[in-house]
Amino acid sequence: MSDRFTLENIPTPAFVVDMEALRKNASILKDVADRSGAHILLAQKAFSCYATYPALSKYLAGTTASGYHEARLGYEEMGKPFGKETHVYAPAFTSEDMDKLLPICDHIIFNSISQWKTHRDRALSFVKSTRAAAGSGSTEDPSSSKEANIPSFGLRINPEYSEIETDIYNPCVKGSRLGILRELIERELGAGSPVTAEIWDTSVFSGIEGLHFHTHCEQGFGPLSRTIRVIEERFGDLLSLPQIKWLNLGGGHHITKEDYDREGLISEVKRLSEKYNVTVYLEPGEAVAIDAGYLIGTVMDIVENGMKIAILDVSAACHMPDVPEMPYRPPLKSAFDAEEKPYTYRLAGNTCLAGDVIGDYSFEEELHVGDRLYFLDMAMYTMVKDNTFNGMPLPSVWLLEEGGDAVNIKKFSYDDFKARL
Ligand SMILES: *Cc1c(COP(=O)(O)O)cnc(C)c1O
Repeated sequence: MSDRFTLENIPTPAFVVDMEALRKNASILKDVADRSGAHILLAQKAFSCYATYPALSKYLAGTTASGYHEARLGYEEMGKPFGKETHVYAPAFTSEDMDKLLPICDHIIFNSISQWKTHRDRALSFVKSTRAAAGSGSTEDPSSSKEANIPSFGLRINPEYSEIETDIYNPCVKGSRLGILRELIERELGAGSPVTAEIWDTSVFSGIEGLHFHTHCEQGFGPLSRTIRVIEERFGDLLSLPQIKWLNLGGGHHITKEDYDREGLISEVKRLSEKYNVTVYLEPGEAVAIDAGYLIGTVMDIVENGMKIAILDVSAACHMPDVPEMPYRPPLKSAFDAEEKPYTYRLAGNTCLAGDVIGDYSFEEELHVGDRLYFLDMAMYTMVKDNTFNGMPLPSVWLLEEGGDAVNIKKFSYDDFKARL
């Protein structure tokens, strides 16, 4: 037997990242970036398979992170080796987080005015001392300032407008902790609109150079353009300030989907950049890794209870937690809706959870113990979320290269289960 692995003989359970599909997504994003001037970052919370970062770094401006661990990963695996940007946002940071983030992040985004106040002195004095140290070396050499990282600080705003219909994914629902309301900025300044450069400079906001919003989820350009209209209405005076140098439009933009209005996005980015003199950032997760991977499982048993139920070595609860959470039925290769073809099965996981059900599917042929099943679109929000509930083994991780060779990059064992407990 040769030791060449392909999609067909990888031992299961396994995640496989399809490098050709990933590069295709990334090249679409690069084209949008090149033509619009936007900086496009990978949101690592969707996809942190850093073995692909050398490939992705050819197309993307860098990474963004949901906290210190992701920021460090982005810096170590893309920022530092490939000279790319490292961004971070979190609902709250500790002082210890801040000490570790300041030297490695290009942008640090604060979720509240109180978080900015908590970290402002530390942040601004880091910038000051880094500038002084850089300045004492070779003077106007721009490459020396790239060596010494000078972070830029921003605020996440809540425009109180989102077209997301699922509440758990909507950061603008009433009672949301995510982002700063316009009225709180007003209250802090004790001044009416519009805010002027002088008011900004003499307030606690001096040192803030960017605004960020994240109010989309799997959406097209229409919702973005309507959201931007609301943001210009509510925050246009801040965007017009000379102190505000960047605007981050967050993630949730389905830019790599066939029907996404990329020309609309490109002209909107250009318009915003010109009108407000800002650099525009986009930080998609899903759009980078959509349709770029498989989760391969094997049928372990078939039981009956009013219908046929196949028990697999992959679990919805452990390996695709968005399936029960969203909920949705993931696409499966060579399978159809229940009852559409002669043989219908419920596919379920090898855990004790009654609800560990992936979905009901029908097939042209009967399923047998030992058959392999290929779940599609399994690169994003899977590996980053999987868990060892019930002591379930974690799927190994593979890269499928363009010639069809599969290369193993991770294997997990009992030790990985034990180490976390
Ligand atoms: C989740 C998230 C993203 C990425 O969202 P996708 O839907 O995967 O594109 C980007 N930015 C922030 C702040 C997020 O919370």
